[in-house]
Amino acid sequence: MLPQVVKLKGIALDFFFPRWCVGCGREGSFICDSCRRLLPRLSPPVCPRCGKPQPSGILCPSCIGRQVQIDGIRSPFRFDSVIRQAIHQLKYQNLRALAAPLAKLMSDYLASNPLPGEILVPVPLHRKRLRERGYNQSSLLAKELGSITKLPVTDDCLVRRRYTPPQARTTTVDERHNNVLDAFACRDQRLKGKEVLLIDDVSTSGATLNACAAALKASGATTVWGLVLAREV
Ligand SMILES: [Zn+2]
Ligand SMILES: [Zn+2]
Repeated sequence: MLPQVVKLKGIALDFFFPRWCVGCGREGSFICDSCRRLLPRLSPPVCPRCGKPQPSGILCPSCIGRQVQIDGIRSPFRFDSVIRQAIHQLKYQNLRALAAPLAKLMSDYLASNPLPGEILVPVPLHRKRLRERGYNQSSLLAKELGSITKLPVTDDCLVRRRYTPPQARTTTVDERHNNVLDAFACRDQRLKGKEVLLIDDVSTSGATLNACAAALKASGATTVWGLVLAREV
């Protein structure tokens, strides 16, 4: 375990702005200059739908023939190295202050890779999961991103109505899509006619984002894109 983790363990971590690099533990900033150079950036060409690296820049094999509701998913980073560590700390070690610098990385990406979206909607947690964790990391990211981009955030319309256990690594993409089907719903028609940008921390198969998009479109959203901090490729 890194020394700074030992030092901070057991106290209210979210009151502290991260002063140690999440990658190497060096004191100074949340990602030091040398770790920043090693950020696992996802660069084009990518599949226009799911955003995974795809040499030709055309639909990847797993998107061909798949009917989806999400218009597209983009991510600045692979779920790897320093980004993976940062997300882990944001999510499981109560280091909520990481949401601001991580959202800044997402806004930097958006500035050079604009996506359709007039309103930010975080992927919701089921209320049982929210009670366990105490906060929704995607909601924190969306709020920070909203304050940087000046886009409004709506985090009380889309809800997760079905509790789904974490997906096993062995499940296929089809199984993942089926497992979350109908897991989400909109409480009201507030997002009708809106261009929605869904926000999440990590995406694996895109199944969760797609299920959210299905619920949003069923209640009238015109476009739904997904922006995730990192994705597994
Ligand atoms: Zn570092
Ligand atoms: Zn694809």
